Amino acid sequence: MVIPGTKVRVRLAPSPTGQIHLGTARTALFNWLFARQNNGVFILRIEDTDRERSEKKYEEEIIEGLKWLGLNWDEGPDFERRNGKWLITSKGDFGPYRQSERGSIYKKYLEELLREKKAYYCYCTKEELEAERQEMISQGLPPKYSGHCRNLNQPPKDLKPQVIRFLTPEVKVEFNDLIRGKTVFDANLFGDLIIAKDLEEPLYNFAATVDDELMKITHVIRGEDHLSNTPKQILFQKVLGFKEPAYAHLPLILSPDRSKMSKRYAETSLLEYRRGGYLPETMVNFLVLLGWHPKDNQEIFSLTNLIKEFDLKRVQKAGAVMNTRKLEWLNSHYFKEMQTETILERLKPFLTAGKISAPEETLKKIIEIERGRMKTLKDFMSGASFFFKLPDYDVSLLSWKQEPMPKVKTTLEKVLALIQEIRQEEFTHALILKSLSELAEKEGRGEVFWPLRAALSGLKASPDPVAIGEALGKEETIRRLKIALSKLNESR
Ligand code: GLU
Repeated sequence: MVIPGTKVRVRLAPSPTGQIHLGTARTALFNWLFARQNNGVFILRIEDTDRERSEKKYEEEIIEGLKWLGLNWDEGPDFERRNGKWLITSKGDFGPYRQSERGSIYKKYLEELLREKKAYYCYCTKEELEAERQEMISQGLPPKYSGHCRNLNQPPKDLKPQVIRFLTPEVKVEFNDLIRGKTVFDANLFGDLIIAKDLEEPLYNFAATVDDELMKITHVIRGEDHLSNTPKQILFQKVLGFKEPAYAHLPLILSPDRSKMSKRYAETSLLEYRRGGYLPETMVNFLVLLGWHPKDNQEIFSLTNLIKEFDLKRVQKAGAVMNTRKLEWLNSHYFKEMQTETILERLKPFLTAGKISAPEETLKKIIEIERGRMKTLKDFMSGASFFFKLPDYDVSLLSWKQEPMPKVKTTLEKVLALIQEIRQEEFTHALILKSLSELAEKEGRGEVFWPLRAALSGLKASPDPVAIGEALGKEETIRRLKIALSKLNESR
């Protein structure tokens, strides 16, 4: 798979024409892992030659998505410019390659092909081509360009060239895909391929071939939807005297119902999962299992252990079905396993958006309480909101099993008195519990802890009241108990 002595160089080459979707993220991950485990180089190349459809904001989203997942790239034109040579860094904090900045390079190769008569200007108009196509279909032939402009001696007078075409040789193209094995295409079916609109605007297959050569790409790992592009790129390589990289085409990602994944924004957009409160750790773990089979049935993988474990040879050919339930399962798993500080880090954008600010120590305590029942970071925002703002509640909530209100009031007054006695610096779970234990024994646990929990959370269901108290701190606990007591006073 890797020729000894050569440095592995791989690339992610997304077109910034839409949201970064899961397929692109998975391609990025597989390339990144392959580079890392071979001590190689991972390149990000933005394929923005389609000027109409490419947008800067999509490029930014691609970069944001990769950074979010922790998939840093190793080279970029900024470094090239600054140092006149490649510099490897692991920070990924510099720009990617952009095809839009490399126009003169493609132009040079287009001119070379035109000069050597391996490419030619085509003057046929869209209408003429369409008529030709219809004619072939009506004759029962597979439609392809007739080659009309191939042998023009002189450019036709008064006609403008429409595109540049490649003189496609009538050969069979064979390559050994690392996942799919021997793959053969009949180039005869392609007709003369369009490689550029003009000298300034090369099309994808041509620009990508040139870049893969100049960037010394050793392995092209990309989605199966590009399989039919590979023979075309190989034809260009042969004519231009380029090296042929190894190819690995990753299986399609299928919807849970096994249909081809819809382009529905919410289902396919990587950043939509971030907005939905999924962790980058979850996404990496989820993505790597889309088509790759670990040796034993292990399911939990971090980027670090994937560098060791991942194996391109164990990627399947058949479509990879998305199991969205696994996403939640993985997320819950990570919430249980992760360091509290890491969860806090991941939560920060949500806290900022929700305008929630609290000391880190408090937030960490709340995370400790909530992590066991969180499926997404959004769950924290809804489940833990009572910590930040006491919801309004009906006084009846304070009564455990219809205990009469005067009795509830006396108990809560006792609770308040005990709480007030605890020293500020000793306001810990153990000491709060200790100070209430005698009362709970005498009055009954439910009779003490139910109204305390209701007073502190304002909710029917909430976590352990002592833990809530500790997280809220003495002052806020007292404030909430007093609110409960004033509700009880008013209800009489
Ligand atoms: N630019 C192509 C795309 O966005 C990918 C090209 C490639 O990986 O060769 O799908």
